[in-house]
Amino acid sequence: MLQGKSALVTGASRGIGKAIALELAKQGANVAVNYAGSEAKAQAVVEEIEQMGVKAFKVQADVANEANVKDMIKEVISQFGSLDILVNNAGITRDNLLMRMKEEEFDQVINTNLKGVFMCTKAVTRQMMKQKSGKIINVSSIVGVSGNPGQANYVAAKAGVIGLTKSTAKELASRNILVNAVAPGFIATDMTDELTEEQRAGMLAMIPLGKLGQAEDVARVVRFLASEDSSYMTGQTLNIDGGMVM
Ligand code: NAD
Repeated sequence: MLQGKSALVTGASRGIGKAIALELAKQGANVAVNYAGSEAKAQAVVEEIEQMGVKAFKVQADVANEANVKDMIKEVISQFGSLDILVNNAGITRDNLLMRMKEEEFDQVINTNLKGVFMCTKAVTRQMMKQKSGKIINVSSIVGVSGNPGQANYVAAKAGVIGLTKSTAKELASRNILVNAVAPGFIATDMTDELTEEQRAGMLAMIPLGKLGQAEDVARVVRFLASEDSSYMTGQTLNIDGGMVM
């Protein structure tokens, strides 16, 4: 499905990003695995991808740092010779009630989750314009649609990502660069492992399908948005939430 394509997935050393990187590789894409934290985990993802018979390498970069982002994109183009798919997945949370939220907590989340998407998108645009094609997939969240107490910073960033997706989709459509987003609901990751039984039950009560999502559920939708099967779609945000928001 993605044979010969080259992809960059940000924050791909674990969780949803790792599942996306593996899924794209499974479909034949060469994948650059961006990481900010653990080099060993990123290396493990690279090795798992290489075992599938496609190319992979790890690239360290803080998506909130423009110089890092520019170097990362240069590196991907120099290693793969093209960049067909960008998945803006990297994200953080710094939850706090509004009255207690520090300016620093607000800024950190906006810088990584929103400005990071802007900078990575901007940095790949010239190359994708040259290629006259490209797919950009942004990872938002359903809370960016519904809101969530204690997450004003995160919700503002994720809602911003939906707006950024629409705006860049309109701006880049004439260049055959398609920009879409996914909005996951509650996905089982390291984060949800830490929930108490009570918190978990509260979450499940809100999900019509009655179960948490898996990282692979998100990865398969991203694979669809990265493929030719979605070639007449741009500016869309697809909810992957077991029916929570409808
Ligand atoms: P995670 O914490 O396991 O993964 C996030 C990844 O992003 C990590 O590998 C981390 O190192 C990386 N990262 C963080 N800051 C970075 C930076 N400045 N530069 C580069 N990489 C950076 O979390 P996850 O659940 O896998 O989340 C992945 C994405 O999905 C995030 O954007 C998150 O907001 C979104 N999301 C998750 C859920 C969920 O339920 N897990 C729901 C909706 C949206």
